[in-house]
Amino acid sequence: MTSLEIIEQSERKIVVKLKNVPLQYANALRRICLTGIPVFAIDDVVIIENSSVLADEGIAHRLAMIPMKTDMTRFIEPSNCDCHSEVGCSRCRVMLMIDSGAADTTRTITSAELTSEDDVVKPVSDKIPIIELAPGQKVKLEAYARLGRGTEHAKWNSATVSVLTETGNPHDHILTIESTGALTPGQIVAGGVEELAKRLDVFKQVISTLG
Ligand SMILES: [Zn+2]
Repeated sequence: MTSLEIIEQSERKIVVKLKNVPLQYANALRRICLTGIPVFAIDDVVIIENSSVLADEGIAHRLAMIPMKTDMTRFIEPSNCDCHSEVGCSRCRVMLMIDSGAADTTRTITSAELTSEDDVVKPVSDKIPIIELAPGQKVKLEAYARLGRGTEHAKWNSATVSVLTETGNPHDHILTIESTGALTPGQIVAGGVEELAKRLDVFKQVISTLG
């Protein structure tokens, strides 16, 4: 019988044994866990003021690469949202802001100053450096985070590590997942299994129409 056994689990990492799972399914699950589960990332930045030496696009790129804690229950992917709005609505995007004020001394703006309108969807850490400001320089911006998948852009990867190792038994495989922090490693594996089941279901329906 097919089963999944947790061998090791910590805050950022999980190791599971997939028993009686064909290699191609185990591999599909590995890929889905890496790039197939929707997580939040900043994908739109409106710069209101920037007198730092870093160009606007440089700031937008740094913001995009900050892993964001993801709430899977209250939000949906923009492509599935019926607001059909480019800006998005409260179900498909979260707004964050930086308003540094003028720096007195040279200092680094970190993710701690990236304040979110949402209690859950925010940077996974407060310590990620974003911009260096010299005295008198300031940065003010609005950033929009949306759900997306790593298959579209690496900023939406749900895991930093997703590897499959052999066990000696050809029907059993060990899957190791390390999370970006957006989701717990357990949520990634559960989400991956659900997504794989959904895809196989769609596949079965397509096959049946070929009848
Ligand atoms: Zn929407």
